[in-house]
Order: sequence, then C-alpha cells, then structure tokens
Amino acid sequence: MTALPLVFEAPKRVAPPRHLADLDPAERRAAVGELGLPGFRADQLARHYFGRFTADVDAMTDLPAAARERLRSLLPPLVDPIVEQACDGGATRKTLWRGHDGTRAESVLMGYPDRATVCVSSQAGCGMACPFCATGQGGLQRNLSTAEIVEQVRRAAAAARDGALGEPTRLSNVVFMGMGEPLANYKRVVAAVRRITEPAPSGLGISARGVTVSTVGLVPAIDKLAAEGLPVTLAVSLHTPDDELRDTLVPVNNRWKVSEVLAAARRYAQATGRRVSIEYALIRDVNDHPWRADLLGKLLRQQVGTKRVHVNLIPLNPTPGSQWDASPLHVQEEFVARVRAAGVACTVRDTRGREIAAACGQLAASEV
Ligand code: SAH
Repeated sequence: MTALPLVFEAPKRVAPPRHLADLDPAERRAAVGELGLPGFRADQLARHYFGRFTADVDAMTDLPAAARERLRSLLPPLVDPIVEQACDGGATRKTLWRGHDGTRAESVLMGYPDRATVCVSSQAGCGMACPFCATGQGGLQRNLSTAEIVEQVRRAAAAARDGALGEPTRLSNVVFMGMGEPLANYKRVVAAVRRITEPAPSGLGISARGVTVSTVGLVPAIDKLAAEGLPVTLAVSLHTPDDELRDTLVPVNNRWKVSEVLAAARRYAQATGRRVSIEYALIRDVNDHPWRADLLGKLLRQQVGTKRVHVNLIPLNPTPGSQWDASPLHVQEEFVARVRAAGVACTVRDTRGREIAAACGQLAASEV
C-alpha cells in the first residue's frame, strides 16, 4: 500500500483581488470615487503605474498621504517573484512567481540587439494537453486575471528599463506564449492586451504590432479576436498539416480540424492586415518528413495565401519524461527549403533559455 501524503493542499482557486490593471479608464475613476476620492486621482495613479511602472504607493509622493492610504487597496500585490534565473549571458531571464492563492506561473524576459520581449503566461498550467509540452502535462490550475497578466508586463518593462538586460532598454514586444492557452481565457487576455497597448499613461503604450497572441487553434475565439480592432499578431500552433497526426499532437484538433484552423487564420489576416505566424515544433521522425513540409507549404499557399502567412519552426525543446527529440540539422534544413519552395516564408526560431527550462514548451513552474 502506498502511504498517503500527510498534508494534501488543494489549490484554493479564489479569484485574485481587484487591481487597477483590471479596470479600464472609466472603471478606474469609478473605483477611486468609491474610495471617496476625486476622479483625477485615478489618472495620477495610472500615470505612476502605467507610465512609470511603479506599483509602490509610498513612492507616489505627489499624492497626499491620506489619498495614498486609500489608493493602496487598488494595488494589491498579485505577482510575488520567488525564483529568478538567467542564462544566455543575462539576455534571457525567467521569473517564477506566486499568486495570492499560492498558484505558480512563469514569465521570460529576453533581450535582443533590436528589441526586448517578454513572454507571459495567461493561465496557471494549461488544459490543452499537448503531449510534447511540459505545461500541458500538469493540467490547468486556473485562469490568470487581467491584472496578473499586466503585472508580468509591467514588471518586465521596469526590469528592462532598470538595466536587467544590461543597458536600460524599452520593452517593445509582448508574446502570449508562456503557460496556458490565451484564447481559453479570452476576456481577461483581451482586456490585458488593451491595457498593454493603450497609449501611456492610460496603458503601457506598447504597439499592438509588438504583441503576439499564440493559440492551439480555437476557431470561434480567433474570429472574435479578429473583430476586436486590435491589430495584434496571431500565432497558430499547427505542428503538422495532417489531421491524423494533429489529433494526437494538439488534441483540440479533434474539435477544429486543420482546414478550419487555416480558414480562420486566413480570415484573421484579411481582417487585421497582419501576417499570421504558423508555429511548428520540429520533432524527429514524428512530424519532420519531407512530405509533411510539402503538404504544409501547399496548404498554406492554397488555403491562407503566401502573403498572409509565415512559418516559424521551433527545434523541439526537451521536456521531462519525453522520448521525443529535435530533428537533425539536415532534416530541419530540408524542411525549411521545401516550405520555401512553395513560396511560403519560413524561418527557424532562435531558441532561448533551454538551460533554465525557460524555452518554448518547458514552462512547468517547478522550483528546482
Ligand atoms: N497554448 C498556446 C500558447 C503557448 S505558446 C499555444 O499553444 O500556441 C508555446 C509555443 O511553444 C507553442 O507554439 C507550443 O506548441 C510550443 N511548444 C510546446 N512545447 C514545445 C517543445 N517541447 N518544444 C518546442 N516548442 C514547444
């Protein structure tokens, strides 16, 4: 008989407390009014939070002490960093953070010569169960709130400004490619995108062109996103062009097939004018065959259009307990050449953060 653990701590899943970043400008003014303060205090608070990345009420010395005390309730600590790890000479930095209820999630800040990108989580865990992804193995704990998502970005913007990547750097890009399926947490993710892209000081002022939302292919949500008037880049995790294999690699394919996902990608590109990115983790002897490269190129050309799409190959990153491997370089090169031969743009993603389990598909929020 196996011994039962003495203490079994079930996750509480209590919604996080309300935070300034959950609210749009009108809601902020109303919230400040409820605290008995004039509406302009909301704008002052937003200038500190979104414009200067400050969440410390005590540092807001232009506000009277009594107002600061009342406003404190709008900035509850939501994201508590518990482990920070760096690699790639300091250019990749992963933060494991804890939520108010003990939930854990991760964010990754990456510096490049021409930009700085933060990869954020939209859920604690993930319910999509893709077998090659470490996040998918642990299941879904809960949705992150809008403010928990915005807090990841604000903290990254402050860290980049304060020299975490070397020189003071402006955070230019946000990718929803951390833990979770962003379109399964639609409302909170879209509100977070609005906070991130609204011009400062009402929002963080990051260009929508610098924001990428990545999805396993939830078709109705892709169409909804296309109608939001937010020209963010859509990335679709396709991983194979045939339904038979995709049914197992990306289980949600049992609900929306490759052709439906590609049709949604086409509509998204047409509605937003943005090129859709097709993500393809190359797995040795699983999805790296020349015929799959040919089929991928052909389907994208015919069903999406060569001007509306770009393929991003990701050499498979190792995950605990997985038998799968990245493809050998010559196989990867042939795959790229075949996709390009169909007239479809194709590049290989520069993989960051493997040594600290911060690369695509490796986020598992473990402390070791
Ligand atoms: N759920 C969304 C957001 C996560 S993005 C989505 O799937 O798109 C993370 C990206 O990394 C996805 O494209 C995912 O398929 C890919 N990925 C997952 N596991 C990986 C691994 N082991 N190696 C390389 N890429 C992986």
